[in-house]
Amino acid sequence: MNLKYYPYKLELKNTFTLSHSSRRTTDIVIVEIEQNGITGFGEACLPPYYPDTVKSVCDFLSKIDLPQVAAPKNINTIIDNINRTGKGDFAAKAACDIALHDLLGKITGLPLYKLWGVDIKDVKPTSFTLGIDTPDMVRKKAQAASGYAVLKIKLGTENDRALVNAIRDVSDKPLRVDINQGWTDKFMALDMIEWLKEENTELVEQPMPKNMVDESVWLYEKSPLPIIADESVCHASDIQKVKGMFHGINIKLMKCGGLREARRMIASAKSAGLKIMIGCMTESSCAISAASHISPLADWVDLDGALLVANDPFTGAALIDGKIIPRDKPGIGVSASEVHAYK
Ligand code: MG
Repeated sequence: MNLKYYPYKLELKNTFTLSHSSRRTTDIVIVEIEQNGITGFGEACLPPYYPDTVKSVCDFLSKIDLPQVAAPKNINTIIDNINRTGKGDFAAKAACDIALHDLLGKITGLPLYKLWGVDIKDVKPTSFTLGIDTPDMVRKKAQAASGYAVLKIKLGTENDRALVNAIRDVSDKPLRVDINQGWTDKFMALDMIEWLKEENTELVEQPMPKNMVDESVWLYEKSPLPIIADESVCHASDIQKVKGMFHGINIKLMKCGGLREARRMIASAKSAGLKIMIGCMTESSCAISAASHISPLADWVDLDGALLVANDPFTGAALIDGKIIPRDKPGIGVSASEVHAYK
């Protein structure tokens, strides 16, 4: 097996603003794992508020020693060995995990969803994210989002009600709100959630900082809407800790380290009675396509990352009737677009 990797800069169609940062590009590192002329693709996505960087990912990848003879049938052993290379580095681990699963699917000739017996008829419509912006811009973005069944808005500033009102001026579609830990007053948070329920909101993602445990339990017990953990849960080992604090969890490949851990999280969350959202960063079609193979197992899908990118180096899972549907091609189902523009 041979490993190659390339940094690439995703350019976003619009400036993307959260409660804590704003950006126009997202760095990724593309990974290729090749065996006997067949190549599996993977991606590490590196938003600036996560600890991993292009350098840390490349450092991690430079230390990996892939087996020369083993077939990806031994995928669990190979992933275990890769994961032992470093303690954190979850985006880099996710890139390798995705590339190995892509390779496994290509060698067996099956899309991952077929390999895993997942029925893509069960996939739910994805939400489409409108970043924090002026009410005027949010109104325009909501109007332009006609191809989507559900809208998601990033809140957590003093302007929250004005932004929701701006959407409601032009759209009555169901809304999901992501606070990114931006509310620090539990009474204000409950007031807002009660108001948001009247505004046809489906769920609230990570309203309070992850270290405000008692306040989060209080809010969970009183909230009329499901509260979903994002920053508070990264891995399967975090799931028991958020029971009784959140109604569901947001699983992202870049947080957890790849498809294998994501599938473990789905199983753990289901047995803990927690709902499941499959989310993403502003990723290319590579990581989004990988996630699309497990998205039918989720209650809510938030896989709009590649739709926000202007220079996607891959073609893969596509938006069909508001849903992100994996292609019926082996592995994660992507091809490198624009003559390997990233090389
Ligand atoms: Mg979130």
